[in-house]
Amino acid sequence: MDREKKKISRRQAIAVTAGAATVAGLGPTAASASATKQTMVDVVVVGAGFAGLTAARALRKAGRSVVVLEADNRVGGRTKPATLAGERIDIGGQWVGPTQTHLLALAAHYGVTTEQQYDFGDNVIDICGRKARYKGETPGLAPADLEEFGGIVAKLDSLAGEIEMPRPWLAPSAAEWDAQTVESWIRANTTGEPTREMLRGVTRAVFSCEANEISFLFYLAYIASAGSLEALIGTRGGAQDKLFTGSVWQIAAKMADELGDAVVLGSPVSRIEQDKDGVTVTAPNGTWRAKRIIVTAPPAMAARIDYSPPLSARRDGLSQRMPMGCVIKVAVAYKTAFWREQGYSGLVVSDRTEFGPWFDRGTTLTKGGALVGFFDGGPAQRWADRSAEERRARVLDDIALYFGDAARSPVDYVEEVWTLSEHHRGGYVAVPGPGVLTGFGSALIEPVGRIHWAGTETADAWVGYIDGAIRSGERVAADVSALV
Ligand SMILES: Cc1cc2nc3c(=O)[nH]c(=O)nc-3n(C[C@H](O)[C@H](O)[C@H](O)COP(=O)(O)OP(=O)(O)OC[C@H]3O[C@@H](n4cnc5c(N)ncnc54)[C@H](O)[C@@H]3O)c2cc1C
Repeated sequence: MDREKKKISRRQAIAVTAGAATVAGLGPTAASASATKQTMVDVVVVGAGFAGLTAARALRKAGRSVVVLEADNRVGGRTKPATLAGERIDIGGQWVGPTQTHLLALAAHYGVTTEQQYDFGDNVIDICGRKARYKGETPGLAPADLEEFGGIVAKLDSLAGEIEMPRPWLAPSAAEWDAQTVESWIRANTTGEPTREMLRGVTRAVFSCEANEISFLFYLAYIASAGSLEALIGTRGGAQDKLFTGSVWQIAAKMADELGDAVVLGSPVSRIEQDKDGVTVTAPNGTWRAKRIIVTAPPAMAARIDYSPPLSARRDGLSQRMPMGCVIKVAVAYKTAFWREQGYSGLVVSDRTEFGPWFDRGTTLTKGGALVGFFDGGPAQRWADRSAEERRARVLDDIALYFGDAARSPVDYVEEVWTLSEHHRGGYVAVPGPGVLTGFGSALIEPVGRIHWAGTETADAWVGYIDGAIRSGERVAADVSALV
């Protein structure tokens, strides 16, 4: 096996000499020349996000030769590092919750530690003209609104309990749920405007899309894949429980370092050709030949690749119908965490702002404080094509509305417009509208010949999250290593 690895490595070195850029997590070199050599491996993996790196790592462990082709000049996919006030932060995926056990295990393996999301002090909620400070996980709504909202959350959890992941389209009521948007369900099942606005806000914050864009079946499937709605929206004990000291992205970088020259950056795969013996994979910097291929790009991005022969009608139909959510992530650093001095936790949920929700960035920043937040769904659609200066001004205005004028004097500001990002075109996740899962859902995971699909969208738990991406990488590696 070692010899085989060495052989592959030498062949890859030839391809590299011919123009492909090799990597480790931190040392990207863009591909420049066109390669002429064809590299042979057992499996090509498209995408060096958590799904692709996990799959490659598992296949290697199982003794298969593998190459990971990544379009970008860095690894990590929808996780990405940034520097804020001299410290490394995540400007993509960031948090981890206690039931996201696959991510926690991977972090422990690489010695990456977590810390609690800062949640001391008062949260702020400002919905339908009523502003309140509250502590803990129960939103500070008026008692009657809280009763309705609580009842709806319980109802959503109970409906989600009828779904078995990863095949929500098989649920007894799937057709009925997939025939409506979250917005139409909200209108039919709630009466109070604050409950409606809360649910719309939750949809934006969790899916980065508007309630009128997304299938109610997919919404329930997402709840089922996380265990409960509370697990999705909660800070303490929920998906925002902890963050990683020094970034979650470094875990992807460590996996890539381990894979060494099996990860080739700057390799946007443009064509996948299947024949009776294998697949030929083309990127501007080389051609690879393999027995099987795993595509981890989300459906809308995978659809930008040419396939020969063309994909099945179901798979192509699915790809045409699963757009990415719209999101811009922003981090702002200040000389001091002045909101903490005012007794605030930093969490603000408001329907008066375009920016938000936002959170305290946590305790890793030793110098001063920082906030991190999002333009999600409609606000991201409205702000993605505006200038960075306009967005920055809007963010500072919105924060100042709750924390005062000190918000207008940051020491640093970093943003990532995921919706503009060439190889992602959005996030956090792909969001199918009505009719998609029941019509085309099975094509999410079903291989098309020698092409296998992974990525967080295909997960059986924690769909849309890093943990789900890792699970999907493990699942696809087991499927593929049984075949090659
Ligand atoms: C702003 C933001 C905040 C988030 N917050 C959290 C969070 O706090 N916690 C959490 O768990 N999750 C969070 N997520 C979601 C999480 O980041 C993703 O679920 C996860 O990273 C997806 O991993 P993946 O490997 O499935 O896909 P990706 O990371 O998208 O990887 C796919 C890779 O394929 C590459 N690619 C695309 N097309 C091609 C091609 N033609 N050829 C070669 N390569 C190609 C892409 O460049 C990419 O690197 C967030 C996401 C965003 C955007």
